[in-house]
Amino acid sequence: MHSTPPTRENDELAKLKLGSSLFARQLKWGLLIALLSGLLIMLYQGVSDYRSLLTIYNQTNQRVINSALLVANSAVLNRDVELANAVVGSALVQRSVASARLIDANGDVLVEQRRNLDELPQSIWVDRLFGGISTQEVALHVPGGNLADQRVIGELQITFSPHVYIAALYRRMEISFFGVLVFALVITCGLVGVTYLIVTKPILELSAYMVTVNPVDVDKHLPMPPPYRHDDEIQLLGSSMIGLFGLIRNKVQKLGRATDALQAANQTLEMRVEQRTHELNEVVEKLELLAATDPLTGLANRRALMGRLKNAIAVWKRRGTRVGVIILDLDHFKTLNDTYGHQAGDTVLKSLASVCHKVLRETDLPGRMGGEEFAVLVNDEDEKGMMVVAERLRKAIEADTISANGQTIHYSASLGVACLPAVGDMALSDGEGMEALLRQAREVEAIIDMLYSVADRALYSAKENGRNQCVFGALPASFSKAGE
Ligand code: GH3
Ligand code: MG
Ligand code: MG
Repeated sequence: MHSTPPTRENDELAKLKLGSSLFARQLKWGLLIALLSGLLIMLYQGVSDYRSLLTIYNQTNQRVINSALLVANSAVLNRDVELANAVVGSALVQRSVASARLIDANGDVLVEQRRNLDELPQSIWVDRLFGGISTQEVALHVPGGNLADQRVIGELQITFSPHVYIAALYRRMEISFFGVLVFALVITCGLVGVTYLIVTKPILELSAYMVTVNPVDVDKHLPMPPPYRHDDEIQLLGSSMIGLFGLIRNKVQKLGRATDALQAANQTLEMRVEQRTHELNEVVEKLELLAATDPLTGLANRRALMGRLKNAIAVWKRRGTRVGVIILDLDHFKTLNDTYGHQAGDTVLKSLASVCHKVLRETDLPGRMGGEEFAVLVNDEDEKGMMVVAERLRKAIEADTISANGQTIHYSASLGVACLPAVGDMALSDGEGMEALLRQAREVEAIIDMLYSVADRALYSAKENGRNQCVFGALPASFSKAGE
């Protein structure tokens, strides 16, 4: 079965059905006020009814006596029973007369007629409001004569009962009570109905509109408030509401645009940051390369070569892989410069770099240490191997020529060689050799200094011995002992 899922709008709308608290309160209070005012009117009506009924009661009683008196006189005087009955009967025509009788001078009852009071409606208010049942006795005289001189010939006794007036008062009050009730109901329903139509219903419609409209949903058309014909407060409320929704929508749209712009700016910024980072990385790589490269020869500079040597010695300390160093110094370079010029000297230095690239393996690292002094880091070669590499290099340099100012220039170099022994070699000759070595040279820098100075001394020897040659430098006693 299909059913509408509960939403905030549905919940709110459910609260706004007919019979909402506003309508119920209007009905309740309207009915109460109408009833109370109706009861007040009924009370006022009752009092004025009572007053007029009392007056009518008294006047009627007096009229009954007056009209019966004349005929009663002659009926008693002539002892005419028939006439007397007629007099008494005509008095009893009035419903307020309970009984009437005529008495002669001797006190004998000539005629008497009475009404059965039980047939009349009984009420406790008979005594309180109309003075209860009362009897009036009127003396009878001979008609026509002077009243002061006339003798009494009898008496007319009439008993009055206000039962019928009480009944009339009750009936009137009953009518006015029901009248008031109907009046209250009609007035209340009318007023509440009118109020519902002109106030409650438009407010309910406006509230339903308010709950259903979502001013933030900028993709949908903003609906107008329900139509309303009167130019009053509710109309004003509807106009204010649409104005408010418009304002909210405007702000939301502005916010959306600002967010889009911000996102776009953010994206551009991210792209630019990425691009700049890339550029920066490239520059850093170039700088690193420049910082590690000798500008004239393109070989590694002293700093880079020393760094690699440091790494190699750290590996040698841990694994015992052989490390060797060749120091190379051009012979009589000062003279070469002086003879052919500084430019030619630079060309020699560059040529030497390309000779290094040709002769050495990729794992070997040649570097310019400064001036016309170079060094080569050679891995995993023993003394013999180191000397082979150095000799090959020396020969290639000897064979190399450059041309400057139309002249062919030959040059040579002296090489000093030194290397650290492999672990295996030391273990075979002396088990404690390696340990002693490490004890003496805990610091990598100390080993570098030692190795470099050994190679440097060997170079010095090569120079001393006449240049253009390779000399292997032996390590100090403790090292050489290990290397034996
Ligand atoms: P030795 O055989 O004893 O090494 O003699 P040498 O003349 O090579 O030694 P010395 O140290 O007396 O002279 C080194 C010369 O190298 C001095 C300098 O003119 C030259 N030199 C140093 N750096 C450069 C450079 O970058 N370019 C050029 N063209 N010459 C340089
Ligand atoms: Mg030198
Ligand atoms: Mg030199």
